[in-house]
Amino acid sequence: MSDSFNTLSHPGGRYLKLGILNGIVVTQNRNRDVFKGDLLVEDGVITKLGEFTERVDDSLDAEGCIVMPGLINCHTHVSMALMRGAADDLRLEEFLERTFAVDARRTAEDIEIGAELGCIEMARSGTTCFLDLYYSEDVIAKAVERLGLRAYLGWAILDEQHTTQKGSPIRNCERFIREHSDSQLIKPVVAPQGVYVCSDDTLIAAKELASRENTFCHYHLSETRHEVYEYKRQKGLRPVEHLAKIGFLTKGDVAAHCVWLTVNEVRELARSGVSAAHCPTSNMKLAVGGVAPLPEMFEEGGGVCLGTDGCSSNNSLDMFLEMKFAALQLKSSRWDASALPAQKALDLATIDAARSLGAEKEIGSLELGKRADIAVVDCRHSAMAPTTSDNAVANLVYASPSKAVRDTIVGGEFVLRGREIVGVDEEHIIDAATAAAQKLLSE
Ligand SMILES: [Zn+2]
Repeated sequence: MSDSFNTLSHPGGRYLKLGILNGIVVTQNRNRDVFKGDLLVEDGVITKLGEFTERVDDSLDAEGCIVMPGLINCHTHVSMALMRGAADDLRLEEFLERTFAVDARRTAEDIEIGAELGCIEMARSGTTCFLDLYYSEDVIAKAVERLGLRAYLGWAILDEQHTTQKGSPIRNCERFIREHSDSQLIKPVVAPQGVYVCSDDTLIAAKELASRENTFCHYHLSETRHEVYEYKRQKGLRPVEHLAKIGFLTKGDVAAHCVWLTVNEVRELARSGVSAAHCPTSNMKLAVGGVAPLPEMFEEGGGVCLGTDGCSSNNSLDMFLEMKFAALQLKSSRWDASALPAQKALDLATIDAARSLGAEKEIGSLELGKRADIAVVDCRHSAMAPTTSDNAVANLVYASPSKAVRDTIVGGEFVLRGREIVGVDEEHIIDAATAAAQKLLSE
């Protein structure tokens, strides 16, 4: 896919030069440098790191704060924020029945207000970019642009007999891609939902569309043992084996979950250049029973990133929590306290995520020439103190940083400043989302 967001500066164009001063800068560069100092942003791009004295148009005092790359959520269904707390403590089959029933009743207004709520939650927890899978991504795009986050929006494709979409999903997706090819913040993606609702013909049509439109495919893959065994019973092969056989797996794709894989399947994904978006919270909550084989994925050189999944199965879009749960789940299941160290957990939510999206030259670390997608965490908050350069990374993963996120910046533009959401009426959105959810769930 094209690896560059359009190079126009941030949409408002308010700040020519923004200085972020005196912070503990967690760069996530090649050496994983952490230093005390300043960062200069010009026209949405990082132009200086270290110390500088030049005049700026706007400055942010980051004394006592961590300045870090914004987190990247590589699998979610943002507009399902409306369904937080609506389908808990259920087996996966019951959960899906409940969520599909509500999904089928949702209006465009419900989808938009859910996406706004989800974007606010992400901005408040330091997430600057996410990869979404849903239908009506054109509606979600409006909310994303209003809030000012960066997003890869994957239009759900499935066999026509399974969908509630009006018209052909593949043509809807194609139209969405064409209508958003010039967007500064949005990258359209093709999202064949999963092998259980997509025939081989549908999968290949999705792959061909992604290739024609210079983008990639995002899909669910091997989430539960039941799904994998059922598939094997019908097709004679496990999902990854079958997808490899039909030539579907393509370099640059991102597959969510990847829990129930054999080592051969891990190898196949790595060889194909398909990244796994690991969703530990959703997997544990839905009791999928296994743990995605991250050590084997690392060993085979496969791409790995993290996702929250949707609010109906998580019930949070907080990527700080996702890093913590990823680390704890793996340590616990492998009986090895070093199985996923804090530094690697942070990598999965920043630079490794950017690489999975094919955007590592632009986002995922604080380096010269990269987009200024930044989170500022106040370490004088009781949940983060004491923080120094030495324990900054450990505190970001194991403490509770989302409570202490003070500022979130995307492409040099503030989406959260001094704990205030910028540009939209947060209270109004929360009230409207609450009312919409009550109406939807009572029908
Ligand atoms: Zn999902």
